[in-house]
Amino acid sequence: MGKFAGWLAAVLGGIALAIIATTPPSPKSAATAMTAFSAERAMSDVRRVASAPHPTGSAENEKVRGFLIARMQALGLDVSSSSAGLVDARGTAKYARWTGHAEPPKPLINLIGVLPGQDRSLPAVMLMAHHDTVWGSPGAADDTAGVSATLEVVRAIRAAGQPRRDLVVLFTDGEELGLQGARAFFAGNPLRLKVGAIVNMEARGGGGRTAMFQTSPANGAAMALFAQHVARPSAGSLAVFLYRILPNDTDLTPTLKGPYTSYNFAFIGRSALYHSPRATPDRLDRGALQDMGDQVLGLTNGLLAADALPGRAPDAVFFDLFGFGLAIYSVWTGWIMLGLAGAGLVMALRSNGVAGLGTGAARMTGLIALAAALLYAFNWLSLKAGPPNYYDRLAAIPRLEALSLLVTGAAVALVLASWKPGKAGAVGAALPLVVLGIVAQALAPTAAYFVVVPLALVGLSLVIADRLRVAIGFGLLAMIGALVSGYMLALAHQIMQGVGATLPMLTALPLAIAMLALLPLWPQLPRRTARLTGGVLLLAAAGLALSVRFAPLADTVAAYADTKH
Ligand SMILES: [Zn+2]
Repeated sequence: MGKFAGWLAAVLGGIALAIIATTPPSPKSAATAMTAFSAERAMSDVRRVASAPHPTGSAENEKVRGFLIARMQALGLDVSSSSAGLVDARGTAKYARWTGHAEPPKPLINLIGVLPGQDRSLPAVMLMAHHDTVWGSPGAADDTAGVSATLEVVRAIRAAGQPRRDLVVLFTDGEELGLQGARAFFAGNPLRLKVGAIVNMEARGGGGRTAMFQTSPANGAAMALFAQHVARPSAGSLAVFLYRILPNDTDLTPTLKGPYTSYNFAFIGRSALYHSPRATPDRLDRGALQDMGDQVLGLTNGLLAADALPGRAPDAVFFDLFGFGLAIYSVWTGWIMLGLAGAGLVMALRSNGVAGLGTGAARMTGLIALAAALLYAFNWLSLKAGPPNYYDRLAAIPRLEALSLLVTGAAVALVLASWKPGKAGAVGAALPLVVLGIVAQALAPTAAYFVVVPLALVGLSLVIADRLRVAIGFGLLAMIGALVSGYMLALAHQIMQGVGATLPMLTALPLAIAMLALLPLWPQLPRRTARLTGGVLLLAAAGLALSVRFAPLADTVAAYADTKH
């Protein structure tokens, strides 16, 4: 057992950090200070708004709009509603699929509220969420959480006194039919010219941490303000980068070509509840709502009080440190980190020789390739016959996440477990990731941190650990192992929640980086034990994949839903 102690300490520390990073805050009670956000206070609006499905043009939607207008007026907003025109052809076709008849939906109606600031000539800050739902879902999360968080944020801001600049609330219509209300507002409503910054709130599930996952282009100054005012952030420039290249729309999309400084928040946990008839207020994760409110309130207070709203500045690299704060730096810092990593790895080689370097590089390349191939194969095995049902696959994500753990565990057992790398072997294992880091830093510098930062930490720790007393050096390696594996576990969880139903292969990279940091602590297993472990894990994975494949359609999937979303 003794030889496993360092490795176990690092892994358990990593698991603890990953749990901290991915767990939303506790919901605050209604007795919380009036200038703070309380999920319990927001829940009274969630219960009213999400008591029934309220798609565009329905009688329920009209009731919800009436309720929201009264709530906005009670909060001191100057309320108007504006016609956002007719639903376009694509939206009308989607509506026909919902209702089963060809009659087009009624004209769209956005709700607008303005809380006047002390200086009405300053550019305003806008909070945005959509008041419509899909057909058949009460939408307690999507987007009632955003609507109700907006109301509670406005209340908390007013409780702190009149803000410096105007605060605008926009509750859009027809988001679920193709961002119809937002498109109309940002194409023609005169109030759009008064707005300088936009904060949008969304949900693609029923819980989990709320992440700030998208910004307007050139976000350096915008993120500096975010870092200063959000106490428990969940954000990463990797997500911002991915969201720029992967098409996926929210109401923020029509604003991105405009002159606005913007931020987009969403939670995507409990993914079975996305667009589900079961997305009721009782099933909404109040921690996710609290998380959304805390972050949006902090950010909005910062924007409202700023001398000038943040303008365009070169994109920043940023990521939250397990939720405890935001690391933020400019892209060239990544090259310095790569330099440090390189220097550390070279020094480790100079004092230990190069024997085993090639084996290390081959093992790491093999691990990434085998893990990705197995993840692809077992994901395929988990697919039901016929075209995949998008919502059924979302509902399977927790099981697919367990599947990924089993499969990547098997790859580790088969490729690494019986190997004792030595220093040169560990350096060799870093080499494929150094190549990846250089390519990422050159082509996508805001996304490269997830490999560049661990490389710098591992490179330096390999050198420093040699120069310390054995026990202290071991402690340092265990600490780096915990930090890196914890971050990678949380990242893999986010990847699985985001795209795990189609692209679980992506988790091979965080796995490889976590293993690199844990490698110096690995006690080595006998070859037979390693192979046996790998085989058992693969058998368990096959069983789990087949159980997903042959499970009936998830009971959270709406009866009307087709495979499109
Ligand atoms: Zn939505």
